[in-house]
This record gives sequence, structure tokens and C-alpha cells, in this order.
Amino acid sequence: MREKLLLHSCCGPCSTACVKRLCEEGDYDITVFFYNPGITETEEYEKRKENQIRFLKEWNAEHDAENQIAFAEGNYLHDRDSYFHMVRGLENEPEGGRRCAVCFTQRLSGTVKYAQEHGFPLFTTTLTVSPHKNYPLISGIAEALADQADGVEFLDMDFKKKDGFLNSTRLSKKYGLYRQNYCGCIYSKKQAEAQRKEKAVRELNKD
Ligand code: SF4
Repeated sequence: MREKLLLHSCCGPCSTACVKRLCEEGDYDITVFFYNPGITETEEYEKRKENQIRFLKEWNAEHDAENQIAFAEGNYLHDRDSYFHMVRGLENEPEGGRRCAVCFTQRLSGTVKYAQEHGFPLFTTTLTVSPHKNYPLISGIAEALADQADGVEFLDMDFKKKDGFLNSTRLSKKYGLYRQNYCGCIYSKKQAEAQRKEKAVRELNKD
């Protein structure tokens, strides 16, 4: 019998290459679990969710019964409040710093909880497809959470391998998905905007 797998996802684009790889390499009954309370603006959250759902609808329309992917959603608004609470004092951390470790832990523990409550023996995450994210850290957090949880194991996949990130950009283009230019929280948005401004100033000063 095919094993039920909960694939934690934060956005449609990252999920594309992960869904494809899991369908090609494994024999899983996959549910995408859209859960990212670190997206701190509701409008942005809804936009990413809409693109996630649209990708899955198009994927399912193109694939046979064995490769159909289900969708589930985490508790956004309630857990966003928890996110703000948990990262208090870490607002000025750079992306990749201590705030992100807290954020990964929240997302992955929410995934483990959902897996336990809904009978998934296995979970994994699209977080590892991004070259901007620390794979050993994510994998370590997920393993530690799985060790503490009865009946749930972590499927340790470094999705950026085998050209995972490149494939996600190609597939996002194919499906016409919105690709955000910052990670998700308001702090990463501000950091990305500041970096873009600095770059523009440097370009100007070159001339
Ligand atoms: S930058 Fe991304 S991973 Fe880090 S805290 Fe913000 S949303 Fe979470």
C-alpha cells in the first residue's frame, strides 16, 4: 500500500519541483500542507495560497490517478500571532539568522502536529529546495521533532539536489506562478527592499 506523505509547503513555486521529484522517485500518496504563518501580510499569504492551489489543480489535470496531489492548509491567523510572539527580539536578525531557526521550528512542528492528527506516518518539507535556506539546520530540526513525536517520521530530502531549484523556476514559469522576491515575513521584505535600493545606488554610482 502507498504510504501517506505530508509535504509541508510555503509557496507554489517551491512545491513544483518537490512534487515532481516525489512522484517520479517514490510511491507516495501525497498531500501538500500549506503552512507558513511567517508570511506576515494577509494579502501576500492569500496570493501565495492561491498560486499553490492553482498549481495543484493544473498538476492533477495533467496526471493520472496515481499522481494526484491533495491540498490541506494550516491555521494561519492564529499561528501568525504566535510567530510574532516567538520572534520578539529577533526582528533585526538577517535572513538566515536566529529568527529563521525559530520560524522553521514553528512550521515544522505545525506540520508534525497535523501529520499526527490526520494519520500521516511521514512528512517532509519544500523548505530544502531553496539555495537560500540552511539544509542541515532544517533537516536537524525536522529529525528532532520526529524523534519526539509518536508515529511520524521525517523523510529527509534535500530537494535542491538534482537541479531542484532550477526545476522549480522552470516549472513555475510553465504554470505561470507568482514568484515572490522575498522570503515571507515583514522583516525579510524590508531587508530585500533595502538590498534592492543599495544595489540601485551602486549601479548609479558606477556611471
Ligand atoms: S526570513 Fe523567512 S524563514 Fe526567516 S523568519 Fe522571515 S519568513 Fe521565516
